[in-house]
Amino acid sequence: MKILKLENVSKYYKSAETVSVGMKNVSASFDIGEFVAITGESGSGKSTLLNVISGLDGYEEGELYHYGEETSHYTISDWETYRSSYVGFVFQNYNIIDSYTVYQNVLFALEVQGYPKDKRRKRALELIDRVGLSSHKNHKASKLSGGQKQRAVLARALAKDTPIIVADEPTGNLDSESSKQVMALLHEISKDKLVIVVTHDYAQVEPYATRKIRMHDGTIVEDVELKEFEKQEQPVKLEAKKVSWLTLFKISLRNIFSTPKRTIFMLILQILVIGIFTLIFSSQVKARRELGLMDSETYPQVPETRLLVERRDGEPLSSAEIDKIKSNRNVLTVYENAHLFHNNRNLRINLLNSHHNFYVSKTDSAKILSKGDVKGELPKEINEVVVSSYYNTIKVGDVIGLAFTPIYYYGGNLEHFVEFKVVGLDKLERRTIYFSEAYLTQEIVADIDVNLYNHVRQNLKDSLYCNLEDSVGFELEYDPNATLLYDIQMIKSDESQTYVVENNVNVKFHTYYEHTSTVILEVGSVGKVEGEFYGGLIKKELLDQVLDLSMQNYVSKYKIDKNMISVEVANFRKGDNFIKSIDQTIYKVYYPANISSPLQKFMLFIQGLISGLLLVGMGFFLYAIVHAVSKNIMASRKKDFAIFRSIGTNKSALAKMVVLEQVIMNMIGFVITMIGFYFLQYRFSNIRTLLDYMKFSDYIVLVLIFLFLGVWLGLRFNKKVFNQSVIQVLTLSKEEF
Ligand code: ADP
Ligand code: MG
Repeated sequence: MKILKLENVSKYYKSAETVSVGMKNVSASFDIGEFVAITGESGSGKSTLLNVISGLDGYEEGELYHYGEETSHYTISDWETYRSSYVGFVFQNYNIIDSYTVYQNVLFALEVQGYPKDKRRKRALELIDRVGLSSHKNHKASKLSGGQKQRAVLARALAKDTPIIVADEPTGNLDSESSKQVMALLHEISKDKLVIVVTHDYAQVEPYATRKIRMHDGTIVEDVELKEFEKQEQPVKLEAKKVSWLTLFKISLRNIFSTPKRTIFMLILQILVIGIFTLIFSSQVKARRELGLMDSETYPQVPETRLLVERRDGEPLSSAEIDKIKSNRNVLTVYENAHLFHNNRNLRINLLNSHHNFYVSKTDSAKILSKGDVKGELPKEINEVVVSSYYNTIKVGDVIGLAFTPIYYYGGNLEHFVEFKVVGLDKLERRTIYFSEAYLTQEIVADIDVNLYNHVRQNLKDSLYCNLEDSVGFELEYDPNATLLYDIQMIKSDESQTYVVENNVNVKFHTYYEHTSTVILEVGSVGKVEGEFYGGLIKKELLDQVLDLSMQNYVSKYKIDKNMISVEVANFRKGDNFIKSIDQTIYKVYYPANISSPLQKFMLFIQGLISGLLLVGMGFFLYAIVHAVSKNIMASRKKDFAIFRSIGTNKSALAKMVVLEQVIMNMIGFVITMIGFYFLQYRFSNIRTLLDYMKFSDYIVLVLIFLFLGVWLGLRFNKKVFNQSVIQVLTLSKEEF
């Protein structure tokens, strides 16, 4: 049975207005071993016949039999299988992948037909040698002469190892010497194949042709056998080969690296898009984390880099326990004197010898600062600090005091409990004060404790207020010079007023300084007056009792106790990891920056919604730009894709390849962007601040987003690649020549 048989095959070219005849009622059959020359004047239907035979183009009437099997019912994928397994192509315009080397062009054909991996290289070099291009094997195809290109195409057609080889005017663009070589090669490879050569220069093929077909006006007008040819055994029916993902991956990588200019251009675009998107993304993550950081009532001034740890039983942590926490991989440092951070909502910086003082929103160790973050020096001595440049009236060299604001505060210098010299200003402007390691790790803290204690006590005393059972409320003062008749007595506005005495009454004491320091005590005697009065006086013993209890409340609320330690971590992620790694049954861990209230949760939800929309919108906008640019690039690669298909890459393999290329480009872009950010964050603290907020899972989300966009772009390009038939594209590119 013959490999090909045409029976009255007709092919018409239909356009909107006209129908022209490509060929009409063509009947012929072909056998393996033949070397067929098709001649005829231009427009006589030679190419049409060849394209139909090779499955590049369909036909309207008649039947083409392949090993006796009708092909009129063939689907697109049947034709793909047919082309990839049976037909090798050589065209007038070489149709070589310009960006590949000769070796890569040949190798590609071996790869897509599933040639054994370990033998590919050897086979490719053999074939290159056979067409005499060994010395040019690593030259880019675009740098070759026409003859060399055509020989490379022949090597590739041989690599494909198909029973049929069609050549449409293969020497059309070659000088006579190259033409001779190419024809000789074609003949050489025709031994066990069917070779069909279209030429208008019959003399060139005459020495080799076993058969001559002449066409005229779309019909065969002459078909003569010139010589005997060696009959071949019938080849078995060939199966379409599947290209492995690994091979496709390799091809995709090669496509990326064989066009460095295009790749670099696309990468820069990708990096810009990925970079911008990542920054927007992390700014949203940051906004989210900062919402979760809204002033925590109990532990204000604690930044996201610090956690507070105590034992649940209230005992101090042993040095072995502290060492264990120090060796936790999420922990940077442990400060055993947690109270030295003065975590109090009312903490203020008092610029000495001035009337300026400032609210502090965070306190931290200067250890988290690097030299580049600070104008001036980092603090070393116990009495040195760095403050934010936010406090623009504070300069390097100034002396500041730390104080707690009393409730009735109308400005001016505050009574401070500790003094520092400012040695540097933090450029990050976080309204933070940074203490030296020396200060935070000092052994003797008694002075500061006493100062602080007295300071708080004084403030409590200054803002003491009481409410009697009948809910009369007034401010209480202590006057060492006054002799009091009762434990509490109102100050008369008029000497003529008399006291009404109540014994053993419950009195509620507050201080405005700390709202929660409410104390209820039974008071022995209260002297009340009817009518107007000016506040009240309190006896020393009762005052001390109230203040002691208030201080207890205060201390338990702000944990100014020595049994709590401070744990420094690098960022939120490390903080969260630390909490997970610690035994919660023994220790109580406070992460003030991470405490969230129902209101915060609601705000977080709203923020999530808004940033979600923003990110999706931005993502699509940025990718629309990438898409618009790459679309043109993809269009310029149409010819390459058509060649891939003519070599035997099927639709699905090509589709996978296009998607893989996009994904690989996206991932390379992502990695480069991240490496870039890694280095940039040392120069730009803004970038670092943003990236500090990113958790590992945030990066995973980013990778998935870019993966998705890569696949999405790839699939879109596939439409572009496949919306024209191979021959359409190849003839189009012919016109471009
Ligand atoms: P040859 O290769 O012998 O020069 P072709 O097979 O290319 O001839 O063309 C045969 C006829 O079909 C010609 O009349 C030509 O104009 C027409 N033809 C070929 N390709 C197309 C096409 N894509 N669209 C319309 N007409 C075509
Ligand atoms: Mg032609």
